[in-house]
Amino acid sequence: MPLITSSKTQPSYDVIVVGSGAAGGQTAYTCAMNGAKVLMLEAGRNYDPVAETPMFQTNAQAPLGGTSTPDKPFGFHDATIDGGWQVPGEPYTSASDDPARKFWWWRARMLGGRTNHWGRISLRNGQYDFKPKSRDGLGFDWPIDYKDVAPYYDKVEMLVGVYGTAEGLENTPDSPPGVLQPAPAMRAGEQYARARGKKLGLPVVSIHRAVLSMKQDAVGIPPKLHPNNPKAQRILAESMRARQACFWATPCGRGCSIKANYQSTTVHLPPALATGNLDIVPNAMAREVTTDASGKATGVIYIDKTTGQENTVKGKVIVLAASSAESVRIMLNSKSARFPNGIANSSGKVGKYIMDTVGASLQGHIPALENLPLHNEDGAGGGHTYVPWWLYKEQLAGKLGFARGYHVEFESGRRMPNLGTGAGLEALTNGSYGRQFKEDARRYYGSMIGFAGRGDMIPNDDSFCDLDPTVKDKWGIPVLRFHWKWSEHETRQAKHMQDTFASLIEAMGGTVRAKPQADGAKAIEPGGKIIHEVGGTIMGADPKTSVTNQWCQTWDVKNLFVTDGGPFCSNADKNPTLTIMALAWRASDYLLDEMKKGNL
Ligand SMILES: Cc1cc2nc3c(=O)[nH]c(=O)nc-3n(C[C@H](O)[C@H](O)[C@H](O)COP(=O)(O)OP(=O)(O)OC[C@H]3O[C@@H](n4cnc5c(N)ncnc54)[C@H](O)[C@@H]3O)c2cc1C
Ligand code: SF4
Repeated sequence: MPLITSSKTQPSYDVIVVGSGAAGGQTAYTCAMNGAKVLMLEAGRNYDPVAETPMFQTNAQAPLGGTSTPDKPFGFHDATIDGGWQVPGEPYTSASDDPARKFWWWRARMLGGRTNHWGRISLRNGQYDFKPKSRDGLGFDWPIDYKDVAPYYDKVEMLVGVYGTAEGLENTPDSPPGVLQPAPAMRAGEQYARARGKKLGLPVVSIHRAVLSMKQDAVGIPPKLHPNNPKAQRILAESMRARQACFWATPCGRGCSIKANYQSTTVHLPPALATGNLDIVPNAMAREVTTDASGKATGVIYIDKTTGQENTVKGKVIVLAASSAESVRIMLNSKSARFPNGIANSSGKVGKYIMDTVGASLQGHIPALENLPLHNEDGAGGGHTYVPWWLYKEQLAGKLGFARGYHVEFESGRRMPNLGTGAGLEALTNGSYGRQFKEDARRYYGSMIGFAGRGDMIPNDDSFCDLDPTVKDKWGIPVLRFHWKWSEHETRQAKHMQDTFASLIEAMGGTVRAKPQADGAKAIEPGGKIIHEVGGTIMGADPKTSVTNQWCQTWDVKNLFVTDGGPFCSNADKNPTLTIMALAWRASDYLLDEMKKGNL
């Protein structure tokens, strides 16, 4: 079973998975490795990072020196194709004209989705993150605990390859010994921040990132991930041997031809395809889930984008993994006499409680980092360190004025320059030119440091999406309309981020490059801008107030699952994708078991 066209699909499948990113990749992997016949529908085109990544191109070879443009906000060579903040012919709308109430929606339209170019920061939610309401009375508790997900975090980390360290910090779970790969050394600026941040009480530690710092253990890991399944073990071992360790030199956001970083296209899909149990139809834009008279899901209707034809495929189990908001859209568009408000929406909660991550940033100039001896700091794409949230006790005691925490990510080092590298240097060079400017550029290169806060958002009634009553996309499918509002918990958190960053820059003997924003509502990034959208089909313990149960299975339609970020009922400061994959694996194990028992 391979990549196929619509005309080659089988009459029926055990499982149909919509979407091929982190969620779809993990779901298809687990199901196919365990013998289920799987069809994956992917709205974007086929994409092979091994053949297509421009990872070895220099910025100088790109138009405008590779700098950001509205079409390519992450630079000309970024791995995103046919996706972004806007997708031609596929609009979305906003219920408000107020910029503060708009939601920015980043969509991928390619095999592997956003995993081809994501930042690969892979942090576990901690035990508080699954029970936030029990701690501070806000939002919702998850119907599961950290201990329910921990074994799946272990499995995903071993499968995709995540580096990091165990630090024993509060609500920042350590992986068991042997699960994580060794972390790379901290860059100079990061080491300096660690030393100077101590007096502020900031724990600067190695970040966890889905990049191989060494070859995977192709002998030891497969039996741990697939006990009693020799075929899966053999296939996974082969797939692991085909991946190389990172050589720390090229920008990960362009994808990785040596498969050293995690992309669904290099890690999940090749072994899943090698089982012979997975068919993938690219350019297949799912529109709705079909049901029978009893209300069971029977299949998916999709538009074949290459022909414009509408097709129907049949499956025993349907898994939506199209990214959380897109899965909401498919569900709201799946209307029938039995489900007049969209499939599995008896609670009226489909589309409710969408969340993003709180984001704010500040840059500083650190004289101690000027004129560093020449050295290579390319490393992995992104910072090698971060600061996990450190004020749990103060927050619980009500001393901070906002309810949830954030972690701090770093941007520093003497990395491959691009056109933007010297931007703003004139503030330091006093307009020097010629030889003096060259000397200044060498002096200041690498002396800038940037901090970005990534914080917990509490779900609220004003942040949701529904179908726009009039607007349709070029395939005639109704589009999403977003409603958005940050609460004061988030805006105050953004203000706290600004103060923290300014204090840290000062502790490093530096100066801020722009005045820290005193108004949190101005400091906070717009909703969606951090591209950590989750929620919309939240899980819970009560069918009246949630869309899925703890297994990502919809309450109303037992053979319909949602394995992307939709079932998140809170959005911890931890970047969501590792949790998406862990929950997708857990849901897939459950659905395979239920299918075996004849319950689906
Ligand atoms: C620049 C960037 C940096 C990021 N950095 C991080 C990070 O460091 N750490 C982190 O945890 N997260 C990060 N993220 C977020 C991360 O990429 C997402 O959380 C993750 O990819 C979500 O997985 P998913 O499978 O739900 O969605 P996606 O990866 O977006 O995959 C969804 C797939 O479904 C397809 N699809 C959509 N609609 C349909 C349809 N109707 N029919 C068929 N197919 C459809 C899409 O084409 C896409 O391929 C980042 C994202 C971006 C863009
Ligand atoms: S830095 Fe490493 S993981 Fe990233 S693209 Fe380069 S080789 Fe691959």
